[in-house]
Amino acid sequence: MSQNVYQFIDVERIDPPKKAIQIRKIEFVEIYEPFTEQQAGAQADRCLDCGNPYCEWKCPVHNYIPQWLKLANEGRIIEAVELSHQTNTLPEVCGRVCPQDRLCEGACTLNDDFGAVTIGNVEKYITDKAFEMGWKPDMSGVELTDKKVAIIGAGPAGLSCADVLVRNGVKPVVFDRYPEIGGLLTFGIPSFKLEKDIMVNRRRVFSEMGVEFQLNTEVGKDISIDTLLADYDAVFLGVGTYKNMRAGLDNENAIGVYDALPFLVSNTYRVMALTQPQPFIDMQGKRVVVLGGGDTAMDCVRTSIRQGANNVICAYRRDEANMPGSKREVKNAREEGVNFMFNLQPLGIEVDSSGNVIGVKVVKTALGDADAAGRRRPEPVADSEHVLAADAVIMAFGFQPHAMPWLTPYDVELDQWGRIKAADTEFAFQTSNPKIFAGGDAVRGSDLVVTAIDEGRKAADGILDYLNL
Ligand code: FAD
Ligand code: SF4
Repeated sequence: MSQNVYQFIDVERIDPPKKAIQIRKIEFVEIYEPFTEQQAGAQADRCLDCGNPYCEWKCPVHNYIPQWLKLANEGRIIEAVELSHQTNTLPEVCGRVCPQDRLCEGACTLNDDFGAVTIGNVEKYITDKAFEMGWKPDMSGVELTDKKVAIIGAGPAGLSCADVLVRNGVKPVVFDRYPEIGGLLTFGIPSFKLEKDIMVNRRRVFSEMGVEFQLNTEVGKDISIDTLLADYDAVFLGVGTYKNMRAGLDNENAIGVYDALPFLVSNTYRVMALTQPQPFIDMQGKRVVVLGGGDTAMDCVRTSIRQGANNVICAYRRDEANMPGSKREVKNAREEGVNFMFNLQPLGIEVDSSGNVIGVKVVKTALGDADAAGRRRPEPVADSEHVLAADAVIMAFGFQPHAMPWLTPYDVELDQWGRIKAADTEFAFQTSNPKIFAGGDAVRGSDLVVTAIDEGRKAADGILDYLNL
């Protein structure tokens, strides 16, 4: 570490450079260049090691941030990657997609006056570099038990549960209906934020650790949960939330109206050169209106740009300051040519005589009183209705828990919103069926990668306790 205590002033915070805009607008590749060794070291050296690591406290998995920043600065990459895996199953993913401005970096002591340490990018650098150096988790000290656990869902929750179990000698078998692991990491989050080979590499790493994957296998259809309960010592549900929310607009099932996730999944199948289960959803040459203001909406507008849409509008009912999407992603979308229209509430979809979308009827809004969550409610402004012309409309209003009829007979209680109840029982993340555990979006509602990782890891601890290991 540098002896210069004012390193945080002498060395400015930098983010890695972005690729040229002409390339960004046509390619489905990550937009940020990697840090060089020198950049990662210098940025890590800006950490004050302030003794009150708010960053660590605000990070949902409580990463040992100042410690691995120091190791990265000293070039001790293998020690850094080992330390980072003590708390996080997928640090290279979190480094890329966590909303750091709201989490670790938002809590950094340097944030307000000098620019936070670029924690996420150093985290990504450590893991990428370690893999490049041939690092893999050391499993030599693991004592195998005769226990095995079925994990439903290969998203971050399921993978994190499998990671902790296999490191404790329990055999995890992970079932997923998709042809690749990752859940939304692979099929939701586009490759300009997270390239697809990252999870392919992780599948190799997990398999070498002893995790077994049964892909293209839907529980409830291709295999019953009865079989899993009979053949395994416990079951973990990391099934996510997959019901697309709608707004109840007139004509919202018109030809040319799409839900966000099928659009993004279809694009991923194309990027990964997989056989499309449904016709490809193509925005080339179209005027696209995306409704919503969260990260999913940002992924849809930026995917539409890369597909060659003529014009892409993001219409959101509050103002920019109240958008739920990460500021970094809004900035990236704007740079790529997305036209943001704030304070517009959709009223209905306009169609032609054949039922095709021709526009979205909207009304201007003004922000009124705060709601129960403290956010000011958008209220319609009289006589301000108008139509935004569109050939395609994408609804990006978020997700709710989907129905799981295959689970109904097994005494797994759900809450009033359909989320699996799992946090307050005898063992961490145990459901009302003692043999079934759950975590991630299916339990907390649609949230973040890092919170799914946290719950998958804690559920694994609960399963180990339940199995008396
Ligand atoms: P999922 O990732 O949804 O994984 C669930 C898995 O279970 C899936 O693979 C599914 O196929 C499988 N499954 C479900 N039912 C069955 C069954 N019956 N049989 C077999 N398999 C089954 N978070 C961030 O932190 N940063 C971001 O930038 C970000 N961007 C996002 C962008 C989009 C478009 C979306 C939709 C979400 C985004 N998120 C982001 C949220 C994040 O991806 C999720 O919170 C996280 O993936 C949840 O993890 P999970 O393991 O609980 O569920
Ligand atoms: Fe920050 Fe996310 Fe990494 Fe935690 S896991 S240190 S919140 S980027």
